[in-house]
Amino acid sequence: MTHIVAPAAATAAVDLSGVVRQDWTRDEVRALFDLPFPELVYTAQRIHRLHFDPREVQISTLLSIKTGGCPEDCAYCPQSAHYEAGVKAEKLMDVGAVVAEAQAAKRAGASRFCMGAAWRNPKDRDLDAVCAMVAGVKALDLETCATLGMLTAAQAERLKACGLDYYNHNLDTSPEFYGEIITTRTYRDRLDTLVHVRSAGISVCCGGIVGMGESREDRVGMIVALATLPRHPESVPINMLVQVEGTPLATGKAFDPIEFVRTIAVARICMPASVVRLSAGREEMSEETQALCFVAGANSIFYGPKLLTTPNPGRDRDRVLMDKLGLTAME
Ligand code: SF4
Repeated sequence: MTHIVAPAAATAAVDLSGVVRQDWTRDEVRALFDLPFPELVYTAQRIHRLHFDPREVQISTLLSIKTGGCPEDCAYCPQSAHYEAGVKAEKLMDVGAVVAEAQAAKRAGASRFCMGAAWRNPKDRDLDAVCAMVAGVKALDLETCATLGMLTAAQAERLKACGLDYYNHNLDTSPEFYGEIITTRTYRDRLDTLVHVRSAGISVCCGGIVGMGESREDRVGMIVALATLPRHPESVPINMLVQVEGTPLATGKAFDPIEFVRTIAVARICMPASVVRLSAGREEMSEETQALCFVAGANSIFYGPKLLTTPNPGRDRDRVLMDKLGLTAME
């Protein structure tokens, strides 16, 4: 005889419909985090299937086009000039070298090429070179993405005009915990950049980092901040802190992988039509944890051996994992 177990009473209090909405409350998001794990993951997978093919994973490649020497003080970042993390400050790369890297990424299966620069904000003259890079990458028939720090409205419009498809600017954590991690710019500054990016018609890539010593309530706050933006980001990178020697967050307990999977699942449920990206921290993650993240609704990864300055699984390792899981690259 087959028994079908009805969902627990706790699920009655939360919206599991998979409808895209921007009015998520802290109580609702907290209730999702508190669901029994099998119920949370099942719900996330069910909602994932309403909007995506569960066999497909979007693949991006991230290149650091300007490394180190950043004036910001993000406590997790080895590129900050405030810390001695052994990252040498370099000049902006040549346009030709960036386009050659993009070509290689395309051959390896990437559909989007992201260019990251360690700036507080780009100077207008830097944008000339970045625009040439964006145009060169676009000409390869790749989607383009950039992460350059804060933008003015005019800079966002310039980037849009030269063919930028996505702009990454993370909220990082909850508004309440933010001051523990960054003091050189405010949460409001970040939200303003997101407004400029949206207004210019560029798609938004915006997520955060977990494992920085924040509480679960902060993870609730981070998801609420993302899921109540006037329009959900098209891409939501969820990063697991990579503890880099020399940064203030170099020590501390490793983050619980189950709580990481929970965060992915809650992001999937609250932003059902967004691509949720399993970002930094995969190098230290077991195959099993990554597999659970895919089941919980993650459907994008960064491909390539480096994420800006921190290690990432090599392409071969990712190919093996995707084959094992029967996943294919999203066109
Ligand atoms: S995260 Fe970005 S803004 Fe912050 S220190 Fe690193 S490069 Fe600079």
